[in-house]
Amino acid sequence: MVCKVAIDLALDKLFAYSVPGDMEKKLAIGQLLSVPFGRRMAQGFVLELGGDEEAGGFTGKLKSVDRILDEVPFFSPALLELVRRLSAYIAAPIESVLKAAVPAAVLKPGAKPKELMFIAPSLPAKEVEITKRQQWIYDQIVRLGGGWMNQLCVELDTTPATLKLMGQKGLIQIAPRRKFRSPLMNRRILPSKPMRLNPGQQRALDRVFVSSTKPLLVNGITGSGKTEIYLQAIARVLEEGKGAIVMVPEIALTPQTVQRFAARFGDRVAVLHSALSDGERYDEWHRIRSGKARVVVGPRSAVFAPVNNLGLIVVDEEHEHSYKQEDNPRYHARDVAVLRGTIENAKVVLGSATPSLESYRNAITGKYDYVELSERAGPGTLPQTMLVDLNARDGDDNRGGSIYSRELLEAVRDRLARSEQTILFLNRRGYSRSVTCEDCGGTVDCDRCDFPYTYHRADQCLRCHLCGGWIPVPRNCPHCGSSKISYRGIGTQRAEAALSKCFPKARILRMDADSTSRKHSHDDILGAFRRHEADILLGTQMIAKGLDFPNVTLVGVLNADQSLNMPDFRAAERTFQLIAQVSGRAGRAELPGEVIIQTRNSAHPAIKAAAACDFKTFARQELAVREEENLPPYTHLSVVHVKSQDRELAQAWAEMWADALKKALKTFSVSDAMPSAIERADGWYRYQIVVSGLSVSPVIAAWKWLLGAKRVPQSLNVAIDVDAYNLI
Ligand SMILES: [Zn+2]
Ligand SMILES: [Zn+2]
Repeated sequence: MVCKVAIDLALDKLFAYSVPGDMEKKLAIGQLLSVPFGRRMAQGFVLELGGDEEAGGFTGKLKSVDRILDEVPFFSPALLELVRRLSAYIAAPIESVLKAAVPAAVLKPGAKPKELMFIAPSLPAKEVEITKRQQWIYDQIVRLGGGWMNQLCVELDTTPATLKLMGQKGLIQIAPRRKFRSPLMNRRILPSKPMRLNPGQQRALDRVFVSSTKPLLVNGITGSGKTEIYLQAIARVLEEGKGAIVMVPEIALTPQTVQRFAARFGDRVAVLHSALSDGERYDEWHRIRSGKARVVVGPRSAVFAPVNNLGLIVVDEEHEHSYKQEDNPRYHARDVAVLRGTIENAKVVLGSATPSLESYRNAITGKYDYVELSERAGPGTLPQTMLVDLNARDGDDNRGGSIYSRELLEAVRDRLARSEQTILFLNRRGYSRSVTCEDCGGTVDCDRCDFPYTYHRADQCLRCHLCGGWIPVPRNCPHCGSSKISYRGIGTQRAEAALSKCFPKARILRMDADSTSRKHSHDDILGAFRRHEADILLGTQMIAKGLDFPNVTLVGVLNADQSLNMPDFRAAERTFQLIAQVSGRAGRAELPGEVIIQTRNSAHPAIKAAAACDFKTFARQELAVREEENLPPYTHLSVVHVKSQDRELAQAWAEMWADALKKALKTFSVSDAMPSAIERADGWYRYQIVVSGLSVSPVIAAWKWLLGAKRVPQSLNVAIDVDAYNLI
């Protein structure tokens, strides 16, 4: 018999091996094998099975499978189907998708379960002589019902030697036992009971279980109690003997989030998270595969969790961009969830207070079911929102520099006096890449695409990342003629310094990529703020997500324009989402909340709608813009990446491919080849081509044709990002 194996080489190719006779009965699709490859042994998954060597024309040419590393398949037929279809859709080698679907800690050679000595009391066969001390230890072990040897030694103040002696006397049994390393261990979690649902929540829960197989989009304002709906839907799925996956954005996957699920479902919950130790990840994954854990909570990779008989997938905060993986394989976990739901006939629930326009459009067109929650489930009301136009601020006595308006400073002072807390938010994502006028707040836009140019430092020019066109950096603002045009936004450190100047006595915590690079400091900072060890928390979008601070009554958005002006066609959408999310942080408990948004674009539809918490108006206007400009969700936009350590090689290939794609994809819009905004990173020169059109498959066909037409040099690295989120 012959089997075909996927080995992790990213060649998009399966290798055939012959199966030794004694292995034939044990071998199954989806298993992990050890096979000879070149001069070494390699690991690989069996994807195809059957046929004989003679018929395949392989006689005498094939090497034999070395051994089966694990008889339980890693991939069920349904999961393999998911991997195949995803690999085809995003044009990623199947091996790379297989690899992404299993935690590295599980595949690491030598990874194995942990076994520890376990001690159980037993009844001695005959009268034995024991000391008083041994009798006491024996009584304690009986009382505890047994325990791990290392723990008992500590708790009962004894030694392994004493315990072994007692074992020889037949008082206790000592044997190795598998110990599951769990991130939830040693945490006291109080069980929780289902809460009474309000009518809106009940309606949403009922909709999960209507007979329709469509995904359900739950559009619920912050604090509307979406998690309780998920919990009760999971409970019902478990009752039916099925399993569930809950996806949460990495940044919101805090111990508090995990605890809410563990409190309801106990050790039936497994967590997959990048912050786990290798041992914990190994054990959690195996608890899922064996069916011991039936509820999986995790970030985007959890979509591949080996849950059998899957009944429900929840994608919380479905609009979150962290669901899109920006490395190969570049998949979007929300879309994979929907695909998996279709394949396994599992219900998919997408939840958000600010749904993505992709999902919302699917709801409008009837592709998805849709339900709204417009009331808060707990205490608290929606906050009062005020827009402050920074353009009108010029005559102010402005000790906060250009960063803080008088209104915001007064509101902060007020909170300090009342001993309430403030969150100040600087929605700045990475480098500010657009060119913004400090006087009028306008950006410099491409004439052809009406889209902000991206600043390229390397050759001092502005490039349009939609069409590839470029201009030299202008001296003056094209709108107002001002010479104060800048490439950099305000940083959190500058904002902190200006704030300390205004309020020397206030206790300020700063949270950004710099202050949280230490492990746990993210939790430490939030913990300190929750305990009211600080008055003001100043940070980036890290603080915008799902955290409840009962004493926060003021949220300030320092500069809404920084995200609005990004050279990204989703900039308005992201700005709306960020403002709505941060606004949700104010007034979640009994105290009323206030939100102040500073902007130079107070008339912009996204800012106005965000200030009014009006998702539908925003969505209607923004969808019209996208349709008009042929942008997603009305089109599919993909980016071809070409990089090399040899700049000329990368450029030449990118240009050649841009020409070829323009010829092959006549009904599509294909940009010129252009350098990426960060043209050189880690010694690699990066070029890109943007392709957009009504469908994906012709693009994939053209891409595969390009790969086959001319051998790509080894020193060139090429990839395609289908349905790309990042154009920079
Ligand atoms: Zn201007
Ligand atoms: Zn353009």
